[in-house]
Amino acid sequence: MGAPTLGCSCAVCNSADPHDRRLRPSVLLRWHQPAAVEHAVVIDTGPDFREQALRERLTRVDAVLYTHAHADHILGMDDLRPLSFIAERRGGPIPLYADPEAIKVLEQVFSYTFSPQATYPTRARVQLAPLADRTTVHDVEFVRIPLLHGQLPIVGFRFGNAAYMTDVSAIPEPSFVLIDGVEVLVVSALRHTPHPSHSTLEQSVAWAKRIGARQTWFTHIAHDLGHEETNHSLPENMRLAYDGLSVPVTL
Ligand SMILES: [Zn+2]
Ligand SMILES: [Zn+2]
Repeated sequence: MGAPTLGCSCAVCNSADPHDRRLRPSVLLRWHQPAAVEHAVVIDTGPDFREQALRERLTRVDAVLYTHAHADHILGMDDLRPLSFIAERRGGPIPLYADPEAIKVLEQVFSYTFSPQATYPTRARVQLAPLADRTTVHDVEFVRIPLLHGQLPIVGFRFGNAAYMTDVSAIPEPSFVLIDGVEVLVVSALRHTPHPSHSTLEQSVAWAKRIGARQTWFTHIAHDLGHEETNHSLPENMRLAYDGLSVPVTL
């Protein structure tokens, strides 16, 4: 829902700490290969995508990967338009990788973009493509990690020594093999109170301990968790993520 949460006047929603202002979660992975050429992959384009892209001075997107098609992860798709025009001039539409179920939702929500009958001339130059077990974008491999979000099968991603898993309520046993050895882990942790389709902070801490990354960042945080106070309660190598956080990873 983002923090502050609409209609709420709790301590976190009224907090003066900028870390307690949370846009909807998303990840931008940037790398240079060769040195002069920047590549950028975005994981999820939520309703705050435009604001986040402006903050990070995003000028190109090579691909978008979707974890699932809930509103807080897809509604900013249309704001790819100007970047997709740049991509098209450079050679082609921006590929949007997602599981078939998520592709169906994206096609419905953005039918004016994806319908074969779409006539809107300045629609986003984007192309939906099913996620493979391993999807390669400019030589960087993204491993699809099956996860559960309540009853809904969703995916996380491993890239290099890092993994991103948001909106998780359960990690199937085989998926632990796919994230074995990650050094930087980003995993969602909604709040302390149980939720039918999100892990609690306690559950995510337990996963983080089992996975054993050098550093774990919690994301998709509800307004129940204040930044400072929660961080004080966490093990030394685990922290709440915050908007604009930048973490080096090895690809
Ligand atoms: Zn969700
Ligand atoms: Zn979500």
